[in-house]
Amino acid sequence: MIAVNYEQGLAFAKKMDQDDPLKDFRQKFHLPKQKDGSPYLYFCGNSLGLQPKNTQAYIQQELNDWANYGVEGHLHAKNPWLPYHEFLTKAMGELVGARPIEVVIMNTLTVNLHLMMVSFYRPTAKRKKILIEYDAFPSDKYAVASQIKFHGLDPADCMIEMRSRDGEACLQMHDIRQVIEEQGDEIALILFGNPNYYTGQFLDMKQITEWGHAKGCLVGFDCAHGAGNRYLDLHESGVDFAVWCTYKYLNAGPGSLAGCFVHERHAHDKHLPRFEGWWGHNKATRFGMRDGFDPIPGVEAWQLSNPPILSMVAVKASLDIFAQAGMDRLREKSLLLTGYMEFLLDQMNQERISIITPRDPTQRGCQLSIQVKDADKSLFEAVMNAGIIADWREPDVIRVAPVPLYNSFEDVYHFVQILTKILSN
Ligand SMILES: *Cc1c(COP(=O)(O)O)cnc(C)c1O
Repeated sequence: MIAVNYEQGLAFAKKMDQDDPLKDFRQKFHLPKQKDGSPYLYFCGNSLGLQPKNTQAYIQQELNDWANYGVEGHLHAKNPWLPYHEFLTKAMGELVGARPIEVVIMNTLTVNLHLMMVSFYRPTAKRKKILIEYDAFPSDKYAVASQIKFHGLDPADCMIEMRSRDGEACLQMHDIRQVIEEQGDEIALILFGNPNYYTGQFLDMKQITEWGHAKGCLVGFDCAHGAGNRYLDLHESGVDFAVWCTYKYLNAGPGSLAGCFVHERHAHDKHLPRFEGWWGHNKATRFGMRDGFDPIPGVEAWQLSNPPILSMVAVKASLDIFAQAGMDRLREKSLLLTGYMEFLLDQMNQERISIITPRDPTQRGCQLSIQVKDADKSLFEAVMNAGIIADWREPDVIRVAPVPLYNSFEDVYHFVQILTKILSN
């Protein structure tokens, strides 16, 4: 990481923007506008990424091909629909550190999480528990509890919800290790959000996977807040599976498709139970329509349906931008940008705010979660009225994500100025 001595004034922010090698990428996105036409300060890329300006043309291309070719577009569209998901494999694999056989775009996030648990949560009499963080995203908890019930078991017995220590927001690796060591023999699956959606804490996946595997547990991660935020290194970390969505940092549009990773070691396992559909079947004989299920080797075997091309194309539009920017450069800027926000927040009234996201940059992505003492939603409304789009989590946390693709140092400067002003009133 480049060492920078942060400074307080606006001139510093302007200089950082001027020197930013990625500064031109902001113009590739539509910035939401206020009533007077001026752009919002947008810090909500952790919830819904902004629309790339190229998305419309990408979708228009498929609309044209659909109009001109009808069903023939599956083979003859400019980007044929039949293998369309394969056009995304390389670029997505580079963002998450996956080999081609390990990564696919399909379905939506919670659907993929269920499909993964069908295969990788197989409780036995002795080993039937799932370890998850107490502060997990609600959908993940519902998915986990319902999988447990699906096997005729009781979530009260089978869900280990890991809490942080009293007075702390984040989990300590030491405590995770202890739970795995003490209860690992009964744990079938370890599943953490990474980073955690609430605190922004990023966990060492390789380390947790090693601890889990040593005890015979399978290990998965929900990287909804990780993909496109920082490089994920999934293959190297050895995780059994991972899932993520593409509408947060990956800017593929509301409710767009999700990613799925299954480690290569499971690619040829014919005994894995799986929910199956025709899109997971051997491509050479898929249209024979008569054969029994013959899974494609690797994660593509989990595909169920022929995918929604109009959403898939928006993923392509976004991944093309990521390929231009490069995850290395994005992370470099992200470290500076989030570090700058942290620096400015630290100048503020420490009685009112505290940052609950880890201070160590290796343990976070771009998001900072700011806890505000004696605050309620009216504070957040004041922030919104001042032209900022951020994200409020009850009871008292503002989550802000300075996104290196489209946020500037000046954005960050103005955000902290406005927050300071509102809190001093
Ligand atoms: C955003 C998010 C979800 C949302 O799930 P969808 O199926 O895409 O609606 C689930 N889990 C986590 C951890 C998330 O961050």
